[in-house]
Amino acid sequence: MSLVINFDDISGDEEYVFELVEGPDYFKVDPEEGILRKDVYVQGSLSKVGREVFLKGTISTEMEMICSRCLEPLNYKVRSKISSRYVSDQETGKQNTDFELHASDIEMEHYSDDRIDLTQAVYDQMMLSLPLARLCREDCRGICSQCGVNRNKKNCQCSDKSSIDPRLAVLKTLKDKLK
Ligand SMILES: [Zn+2]
Ligand SMILES: [Zn+2]
Repeated sequence: MSLVINFDDISGDEEYVFELVEGPDYFKVDPEEGILRKDVYVQGSLSKVGREVFLKGTISTEMEMICSRCLEPLNYKVRSKISSRYVSDQETGKQNTDFELHASDIEMEHYSDDRIDLTQAVYDQMMLSLPLARLCREDCRGICSQCGVNRNKKNCQCSDKSSIDPRLAVLKTLKDKLK
């Protein structure tokens, strides 16, 4: 299987509706970002205007990530909209730059040999949809900067008011900014 649709399968008159599934191994995700744990579902439609193809759809899967406060794994549900515009490689040479600038509000991809490959767009959108703050839960208490205990699981006797780990201080600033 692959996330490829043939240009000729898309009728010029109506949207081509599809639903594709790929296993987690299909995408090469940087382990620093996370680990895909579930199949990746891509549902949507393609429509064509001349040699251009427009994609509209949604991606859903599940990614395992590490909580940035307590370092425990967490499962993040990816639910993301995707839209993209595919331009034939044979056509790109003819386009003038003005046109590209005007259309820059939507991601542009290239296709060749009449094969519309959704892989890159799906991957990019999946990565974009991951949260900046990766928390196992909103009020994760993190790891004690003094004794290293996971404070979600255990209370320790350290008074953490005396010293704040600089790394945690950075996260706190980040969190405040996101409010
Ligand atoms: Zn946590
Ligand atoms: Zn402690």
